[in-house]
Amino acid sequence: MSDNSQGEPKRTPRCPICGLPRAHRYRPFCSARCRDVDLARWFNEAYAVPAAPSGDEDEGEGEGEEKG
Ligand SMILES: [Zn+2]
Repeated sequence: MSDNSQGEPKRTPRCPICGLPRAHRYRPFCSARCRDVDLARWFNEAYAVPAAPSGDEDEGEGEGEEKG
């Protein structure tokens, strides 16, 4: 039997943005740029999500002050 000590594929963590080997400093990304890209994505999603549809928004002054 021969031992398969070599040729073992190492699972190199890669940047989820561009696929390059990630940098220890910018984990889990490879660079500050990709980190920003990921951040931007989150922001975009947050913006993409439509706010609650404005229905009956009746705030402020109104003729409903009853004084007696
Ligand atoms: Zn990257």
